[in-house]
Amino acid sequence: MTESRTANQAMLAPRYMNIPTFMRAPIIEDPKDFDIAMVGVPYDGAVTNRPGARHGPREVRNASSMMRTIHPTTRVNPFDACRIGDAGDVPFTRVYEPEAAHGDIGQFFGCLADAGVVPLAIGGDHSITLPILRTIEAKEPIALIHIDAHTDTWDEWMGSRYNHGTPFRRAIEEGLIDPLRTIQIGIRGAQTSSEGWAYSESNGLRVVYMDEVISLGIESVAEEARSLVGSHPTYISFDIDSLDPAFAPGTGTPEVGGFTSREALTLIRSLKGLQLVGADMVEVAPPFDPTGNTALVGATITYELLCLLAAAASS
Ligand code: MN
Ligand code: MN
Repeated sequence: MTESRTANQAMLAPRYMNIPTFMRAPIIEDPKDFDIAMVGVPYDGAVTNRPGARHGPREVRNASSMMRTIHPTTRVNPFDACRIGDAGDVPFTRVYEPEAAHGDIGQFFGCLADAGVVPLAIGGDHSITLPILRTIEAKEPIALIHIDAHTDTWDEWMGSRYNHGTPFRRAIEEGLIDPLRTIQIGIRGAQTSSEGWAYSESNGLRVVYMDEVISLGIESVAEEARSLVGSHPTYISFDIDSLDPAFAPGTGTPEVGGFTSREALTLIRSLKGLQLVGADMVEVAPPFDPTGNTALVGATITYELLCLLAAAASS
């Protein structure tokens, strides 16, 4: 019965019904039938502080049943523009070893890449972005728009080079992203060492600290991001801790003084017209989200990213 249901038919049912896939999209059986796959990555084995993001995909799926299809400003329905489905969760086999778990992630996203499907991942801690980036097929290092309170360019922590504070340093070292076409937006919060900030600054990444976001304004930061990545293949990675914990408390390493929900929507909506090859929304940690609002914000951000991906895939 579900196979014959189109995305839009499923979305016309009352939103509280049926299996809560992301945005109530159809379940992906064969990725070749789809343009964009939403994927849950329930893994938080690489956090440096509070765990819980392994529960993110399930709660974001549940909150995403609040989503409706037609975008309020563009009036575009991404589900009309593209074939969009929910590929389920990465089937982890080795959760106690981060590098092995990353191998599981790489295998799953590699299959999607082989089928030519654009990935939209829902984490999970931010370490999941590295194995996803490894599966993006590109002739040269890709551009990155990274929205986060933290640069995630540290070298190692407690003996691990693959924790959620290191993915973008590894991605540069592995030649996956171009540091000169990488912009990190919303960086803030005190640190025990300046290492991550210093690495980003000295390697040519554009680091837009939150103070500068405030002085420049959201739209001019977005304009700078668009011009930095230009027409190069671009990935967007969105850490929910870029938001102020007043709006998104349910995350492992909250930092006050972040984006409001409204500002985050403006920022993402201003990133239109890019050659997007994938995106993720990470670090929603439901155990610290008693009201469920962080999951709702995460689901809404994911919808906005989906709209950008659908516009890119159908242009
Ligand atoms: Mn992060
Ligand atoms: Mn962060």
